Amino acid sequence: MTVRSARVITYSVVGLFACIAARMTPPLARAPGTDVLGAFADASSASAPSATNELIAVAPGPLVVSSPNALIASPVVVFASNEAKVDTLTVSGVIQSSLFSALDKNADQSLPRSARAELAFTLADIFEYRVDMSKDLQVGDRFSVLVERLQKPNGAVIVSKILGARLALSGNEMEAIRFTSSRATGEYFDGSGKSLRASFLRAPVAFRRISSRFGGRRHPVLGIWRRHKGQDYAAASGTPVRTIGDGVVVFAGRKRGYGNVVDIRHRNGFVSRYGHLRSFGKGVRRGARVTIGSTIGAVGMTGLATGPHLHFELLVNGVQRDPRLALQMKGGEPIPSSERGVFQRLRTRTLGTLALATN
Ligand SMILES: [Zn+2]
Repeated sequence: MTVRSARVITYSVVGLFACIAARMTPPLARAPGTDVLGAFADASSASAPSATNELIAVAPGPLVVSSPNALIASPVVVFASNEAKVDTLTVSGVIQSSLFSALDKNADQSLPRSARAELAFTLADIFEYRVDMSKDLQVGDRFSVLVERLQKPNGAVIVSKILGARLALSGNEMEAIRFTSSRATGEYFDGSGKSLRASFLRAPVAFRRISSRFGGRRHPVLGIWRRHKGQDYAAASGTPVRTIGDGVVVFAGRKRGYGNVVDIRHRNGFVSRYGHLRSFGKGVRRGARVTIGSTIGAVGMTGLATGPHLHFELLVNGVQRDPRLALQMKGGEPIPSSERGVFQRLRTRTLGTLALATN
């Protein structure tokens, strides 16, 4: 199959008085039943953004931040020298080795290297309550991302925000739609309108901390300690380790092969365990309360470890469980019904735009 990389959908130059918008090329005709997108089939049937002109229309004159839920809220950032350029593009691809290399390859014409790396990190951040990007991706998994790209007056190109994304991981599809809700928390919502923020993070080390450069390794030094059931995260010594959820520290100290280890008890009988730590986070001691994402220690190689890595376990009612299954939380606050209509229209347009670029 062919995956068109980083096709530019719209392009608008936003100046103080100037406003130029180029039309997107019309969508290619596609016969039913010839869908090569597999998992993305239903997205491609979503209505294409027929309101293309509306999407790129920017009124001249004083720039006003458009509705937060406009698909292309282009003139959000205005530079004093009035020549910031904002456009959107879609990057899509298939995972061959890592998210990094897929983005590196598929966006090499449209984004500078630093922006490609940032795009990978940001994408991982958006899905961090659902997907552990350092472990969950498999060869053949697909992604597509609708990105707002911004060129600063000095010429530097950055990714200003991700407007929407789709992932198909081993056939399991996920969406993220950027939406501002008056009541539900979080910036991103899934296809059913639930916030992507949930009670647990999927990984105890942020993706951006694990693979700090392109071609980052997916798998760590496993070492000689074979008795354990858990997940290992290779990271430089000193890398912050975060608690995956709110909870109470029930153990912080030295324990055999684990070395310096922290156990945190969460709701639902979950206990998360973080081993081989070089050091403990400030105030992390038995009885301390911790909040989701807070740093509870630093990666090290205490105990039985041959190199610096975090050993992570999830125990459910005292039994070690596969975090990939146990943390498959679909939770997340839903968008209130009064905002559903707006959200659904935005979602349809976002998915339509993504589908156009992936056919
Ligand atoms: Zn381990």
